[in-house]
Amino acid sequence: MIVVTGATGQLGTLVVEGLINQVPVEQIAVVVRDPAKAARFGELGVEVRVADYDAPETLADAFRAGEKVLLVSGSEVGRRVPQHKAVIDAAKNAGVALLAYTSILGGPAADFELAREHQITERYLIDSGLPYTLLRNGWYHENYTRDLAGAVAAGAFTTSTEPGSRVASAARADFAAAAVAVLTTEGHENREYELSGDEAWTFEEFAAETARVRGTDFPVNRISGEELRGILVGQGIPDPIAAILVGVDEAISRGLLAERSGDLAALIGRPTTPVAEAIAQGLKA
Ligand code: NDP
Repeated sequence: MIVVTGATGQLGTLVVEGLINQVPVEQIAVVVRDPAKAARFGELGVEVRVADYDAPETLADAFRAGEKVLLVSGSEVGRRVPQHKAVIDAAKNAGVALLAYTSILGGPAADFELAREHQITERYLIDSGLPYTLLRNGWYHENYTRDLAGAVAAGAFTTSTEPGSRVASAARADFAAAAVAVLTTEGHENREYELSGDEAWTFEEFAAETARVRGTDFPVNRISGEELRGILVGQGIPDPIAAILVGVDEAISRGLLAERSGDLAALIGRPTTPVAEAIAQGLKA
């Protein structure tokens, strides 16, 4: 049995859809906190198990011996260490065969605040003695393309990264395909994969491609980290999270999300999705 947590999220949904295309549906289970959101998978024959990362007692029956599990990292920054530990403890108690975890590009080398919970989780998972796979995911293209039309309407691509900074992002679907590959093929025990896109683009290139597709001016607007933090807080983002997001731009300026190992293309057996494709999709949405 292959078990996917976070299966009603954006990445998890793509993973389950990929699994359905590759393995018999009765070999797939999902662990979700809201079964109503997983109804579509249930109707297709996927086993739906209900558990919440925040409630360890609900996780006690979420896994069985011998299963391969994908732990999709939680989405509530600041709460993820106890959440992930609870899932790992439950998987260990059940005796699963493999626990794959969606971590962050660079793992221990990713010395910025957003990465801290991933680093603690990686250490805890390794120390648990469970067979593990670390899917060290880089940035999604979609972090930049999901509201691209809005950014174009605002007149500029605003960033607090340094000029010339690069990001080797890939499509969320590429990272999902990598997870599917690890869950459906052999030989991934106790391996770390540094997953990022084949190309490392600059914000100038990103804005120029957007401008080309839209047929409009779309300059890069460089602001300080403090200014960005103020804008994010003005948009309703809590200040500690805004500070963490500014820290991501600082990390990008230091090249930490530009690393290209080729692991992602190798795992999925094809080139990663070009950012230009995501830009075109984002502008159509
Ligand atoms: P989503 O926010 O779409 O999905 C997060 C999933 O985690 C959802 O299914 C959500 O459940 C589940 N979840 C959150 N909290 C709990 C909980 N307490 N108990 C059980 N399930 C929980 O994010 P994505 O799918 O896009 O990304 C997956 C993860 O990757 C994120 O959670 C985050 O850790 C990380 N991430 C990576 C990015 C990158 O660029 N590499 C960017 C953004 C996030 P529900 O459906 O019920 O809400």
